[in-house]
Amino acid sequence: MLNETTDMQAVVCVEPGQLEVQTRPAPARDDGLVQVRVRCIGVCGTDFHIYKGLHPFLEYPRVMGHELSGEVAWAPEGSSLSVGTPVIFNPYLACGSCVACRRGKPNCCTDISVLGVHADGGMCEFVNVPEDALYPADGLTLQQAAMVEFLSIGAHGVRRGRIGKGDSVLVVGAGPIGLGAGLFARIAGARVSFLDISEARIRTAQGIVEGADGFVVGENTLAEIEAATDGDLFHAVIDATGNRRAMEASMAYVCHGGTLIYVSVVKDDITFSDPLFHSREMTLVGSRNATREDFEHVISSIKAGHIPTDAINTHRCSLAEAPTAIPAWLDQQDVLIKAIVEVG
Ligand SMILES: [Zn+2]
Ligand SMILES: [Zn+2]
Repeated sequence: MLNETTDMQAVVCVEPGQLEVQTRPAPARDDGLVQVRVRCIGVCGTDFHIYKGLHPFLEYPRVMGHELSGEVAWAPEGSSLSVGTPVIFNPYLACGSCVACRRGKPNCCTDISVLGVHADGGMCEFVNVPEDALYPADGLTLQQAAMVEFLSIGAHGVRRGRIGKGDSVLVVGAGPIGLGAGLFARIAGARVSFLDISEARIRTAQGIVEGADGFVVGENTLAEIEAATDGDLFHAVIDATGNRRAMEASMAYVCHGGTLIYVSVVKDDITFSDPLFHSREMTLVGSRNATREDFEHVISSIKAGHIPTDAINTHRCSLAEAPTAIPAWLDQQDVLIKAIVEVG
């Protein structure tokens, strides 16, 4: 049942440093896929990396956008979704048959394809996706729905680190992903501190995660942390910096018997002292993407009013404004938490 092709507007990253709105054919209706009218697109570090040409394996031109909400425009017969239903995208399309998928970990599928990275994404008017990549967003605004994906990354890190009631948690890197990790560590019952090179970002984070402590990176960071924790250090340290030196330094802040969770990724080797790692019997955990369980936890936390989404969504623009707004946002990283492009 294919429809006649109609045109749509798409923001295309033609090459690094060049964004433009182009008219493209909308995807044709496909019996195996749900067609979604995109409504909100969150812009994140990955998109800024693609724009700046810093993403390691990316082919241009590329339509960015993986933090998406929209409304079902068309669904194949037998679908449980009906036209007009608000939805959230899980942009990590997994193969369903590899060793990770077979063990219930589609977030680290060996053949993963991420919308807006490996394939054209959602900074446009219509996208076709498999039904199981869509979660109903009833009860959320379309802006809130577009924030679920990035918050799920932090929620997944907290779950991977088995963080719970009474734990002390240091989040290294107070950007959006670190903020998400801090919020969900607090929801899990932990006491949260942030460490960052920017005092402004720490203050912003403390405005979002109530009661959080903050440390500014300096010559005596370790001594300050020891003094603040009576020498105990932290039960769990979550790195959300994407910086090799910060990731290596994070190990020193983990207590004996504690856990270090690498949420951020860096295209580099990480080295550490084995005596430090072994004497503390440290648990080192990688955390990649998120699963349906994390998305559902984020959705229910937003519905329960535990996430200050209005304060997190600091910037907005329309699809037509995106080619000028996105480069301008690059210079506002101290005050920008989550920018959202709105369609229609
Ligand atoms: Zn993102
Ligand atoms: Zn797989």
